[in-house]
Amino acid sequence: RVVVVGSFNVDHVWHSPALPRPGETLQGEYRSGPGGKGFNQVVAAARAGAQTAFVCALGDDAGGALARQLADTDGIDLQDLRSGSPTGTAGIYVDDDGRNCIVIGAGANADLSADFVSARAGAIGGARIVLAQLESPVESVLEAMRLARAAGVRTLLNPAPANAECPRELLAVADVVTPNETEFTTLLSRHAHEEVDADSLVALDDARLHRLCRTLLPRGTVVVTLGAAGCFVSHREDKTRGDARDHYRVAAERVEPIDTTGAGDAFNGALAASMARDAEAPFQAHVRYATRYAALSTEREGAAAAMPAQGDMERRFAG
Ligand code: ADP
Repeated sequence: RVVVVGSFNVDHVWHSPALPRPGETLQGEYRSGPGGKGFNQVVAAARAGAQTAFVCALGDDAGGALARQLADTDGIDLQDLRSGSPTGTAGIYVDDDGRNCIVIGAGANADLSADFVSARAGAIGGARIVLAQLESPVESVLEAMRLARAAGVRTLLNPAPANAECPRELLAVADVVTPNETEFTTLLSRHAHEEVDADSLVALDDARLHRLCRTLLPRGTVVVTLGAAGCFVSHREDKTRGDARDHYRVAAERVEPIDTTGAGDAFNGALAASMARDAEAPFQAHVRYATRYAALSTEREGAAAAMPAQGDMERRFAG
């Protein structure tokens, strides 16, 4: 079983030809749907075939009701703190070039407490994998990872968004950390005093990337996701978990993306599901599965709604 600790948001998305400037009023096409990194990732894990539980905080409102209904549809065991705050929201403007501006109202997500998480020690300790992100209070994420560690459960940390606090103690209790380019360079700057330009990361040579990963997380595995360029994996030398090498790249699948929002969430959820399914398989096999799953998610619009089902994966990548 995969336990995800994280956020749920109702995403409000407006598409317009340009992004609004201060004081400007524009017309746009509107849609809304479920999102939040935690929820996107737990939906991905569930649709990738894992038994899942989701530890989160919801408001007593329409957004909370939506989360409960959707969790039920995907067979996710929802363990929610009922907050007096409104359910989390995200206001998203997207222009014709796919650029976006986002404002998040954390709402109930900010109320997920370490006490509520520790009351879920049984569920966390009984899991194969615990997966968390940084859209929830950092002390609650830390509590979840510590409880998992103490019970011998493998921990996966997606250190997103990049501007969230991610203390050293948290990195230290993660078995696998999965930053994208911006998150990786932000962590390097904060924790290793290494200034690397996010845009040039993909062009760095593998030995240097590996050294940077080792500096950041001496004891764990780092998977740096590189968008359409795939990802880079770095293990501790003596901990390759069946992989022949301690660092390597995995190329992305060739697809024609419609909407790459949530690609990282698809990747993380699928990685967790694959690791929970077969703990003995080489790590690279899990990364390959996550890479295919994430690619498929970019061929559909939306965040949680775009997560592919296992059947879609089998049809698309048969053989
Ligand atoms: P995030 O969404 O967190 O920024 P990335 O953009 O790095 O994360 O995407 C995560 C993973 O999703 C990548 O490692 C890759 O496997 C897959 N992916 C993302 N964009 C594409 C794309 N355009 N084509 C194919 N795969 C993609």
